Amino acid sequence: MEALKQRVKELLALAQVKAVLGYTKGTGDRRRPLFIRAAGQVDQLVLDEACTQNLAAYATKREVKQLGKVAVISLPSTQRALLQLMAERQLRDGEVVVLAVDGSEIKEITSASALEEHLARKVTHLDSEDKATLERLAAMSREERWGFWRKELSRCMKCYACRNSCPMCYCEQCTMDCNRPQWVPVASHAFGNLEYHMVRTMHLAGRCVECGECGRACPVGIPVHLLTYCTEESVHEQFGQCAGRTAKLDYALATFKADDQESFIR
Ligand code: SF4
Ligand code: SF4
Repeated sequence: MEALKQRVKELLALAQVKAVLGYTKGTGDRRRPLFIRAAGQVDQLVLDEACTQNLAAYATKREVKQLGKVAVISLPSTQRALLQLMAERQLRDGEVVVLAVDGSEIKEITSASALEEHLARKVTHLDSEDKATLERLAAMSREERWGFWRKELSRCMKCYACRNSCPMCYCEQCTMDCNRPQWVPVASHAFGNLEYHMVRTMHLAGRCVECGECGRACPVGIPVHLLTYCTEESVHEQFGQCAGRTAKLDYALATFKADDQESFIR
């Protein structure tokens, strides 16, 4: 931790970055994002198992971009998101310094190709609760799965914490917020909730970096991250594409091959 704090101070002192995104103490045992712009803030840095938020969600915000080059203290899921954001041209190659934390080791990554190489060795880990839910879902019939998600999503109160915490939901104006015309009902009710989640899941198909942040952010405990996880896995199986592994734009739903199957067209 001391080595990390020292490096953060150096990056700021040498003006190599304008700010460093990390974590600090939040309410209770929680952690919250910290935007370090001066050496005096460095002692507020915290890095432990409670630091789970995907900080890549801030890297594309207008207020952060206006600062100039930033460094991001990051876990593998944040690194995957940063690489996917580069692939989608939301971040320029070299715009962000990635401070990759792996146990006591801190690696400084400054280019998309180096980040790609670093991530080639990483795998996604689901926790035991997620694995159990996925196994339960896999054992269900299609009708039972539909019933499971209808019931879960009926509890949604449309707070949009899932969307706002997601690094890949970066549109400045979301369709959900449009009221002229209003595509999706604002009120929280079963049909509108389904519409919101179906639209969001499809927008993230092949783009979700499986960080789980949307599920953790949900105040009523709906496992929305498993919806996007399953869609991501399905895109991987069908098209061999994996979000957050390459800086090359490789978006399955925006490309086609002449020999793609068309059996779904009736
Ligand atoms: S797990 Fe959720 S928050 Fe993370 S990238 Fe996927 S949709 Fe976004
Ligand atoms: S965070 Fe939960 S309650 Fe809020 S919009 Fe998302 S699913 Fe609904």
